[in-house]
Amino acid sequence: MTEHYQHRARKRFGQNFLHDAGVIDRILRSIHAKPEDRLLEIGPGQGALTKGLLNSGGQLDVVELDKDLIPILNQLFASQPNFHLHQGDALKFDFTSLNAAPNSLRVVGNLPYNISTPLIFHLLNNAGLIRDMHFMLQKEVVERLAAGPGGGDWGRLSIMVQYHCRVEHLFNVGPGAFNPPPKVDSAIVRLVPHAVLPHPAKDHKLLERVVREAFNQRRKTLRNTLKALLSNDEIEAAGVDGSLRPEQLDLAAFVRLADQLAIQPAPAAD
Ligand code: SAM
Repeated sequence: MTEHYQHRARKRFGQNFLHDAGVIDRILRSIHAKPEDRLLEIGPGQGALTKGLLNSGGQLDVVELDKDLIPILNQLFASQPNFHLHQGDALKFDFTSLNAAPNSLRVVGNLPYNISTPLIFHLLNNAGLIRDMHFMLQKEVVERLAAGPGGGDWGRLSIMVQYHCRVEHLFNVGPGAFNPPPKVDSAIVRLVPHAVLPHPAKDHKLLERVVREAFNQRRKTLRNTLKALLSNDEIEAAGVDGSLRPEQLDLAAFVRLADQLAIQPAPAAD
């Protein structure tokens, strides 16, 4: 459908428009939207996913940054009463303004790759509103999101996202499905916020700090990388072996380290 419009894809907006009908259909089937759903699409572009989302009958809010795409989206969808268009930056969008019930928002997006990580964190600040998220991301990012401890993909992104969500790597998508084709492979991921956090930290900010510090130098032992925050005795008091490297620890162990830090007088942030 993209051929009908005069819009030239813009690199600075991360525009790679989906044109493969089979891939679009597979994404929509994974989402399986229903008439009672509250849907939010980030970066609808020229509407490749938007059309199918609206056809579900659910209420759909879309947030698109590129002003030139607004008339195209309006021309395509403004006549549909379940379509609600917001022009602006999704990174600054106030999701509470949608007045969605807790645990109701279903977020969807073939995301511009340059904003995907900050956007996921921005959404997770409102995790209580969200029922699930389906995103197209760089395959490498999906592998990091879905990783388990012990390998090179396990790091800050995996830990901080898995703190809030169950992560499912659904399927991969090659560059040929997009126009223009990106230089990298892509994948679809499903993120489902936990109803109850499996490993709640006393202080989320301290968890962020411990994880950031630990992975600053991932080849070093924890007793080295965490020196500024916790002594070896304090690391051991959290039930963690200080001679391990950060990638060997699971989420629960990082939470124990953060909770240990919560009971120490916290050193000033650098
Ligand atoms: N959903 C369409 C598709 O699948 O063909 C477009 C996907 S394209 C990879 C990313 C879209 O996000 C573009 O339409 C781009 O203009 C939009 N975009 C880029 N940065 C954005 C931001 N900060 N907030 C909202 N939309 C943004």
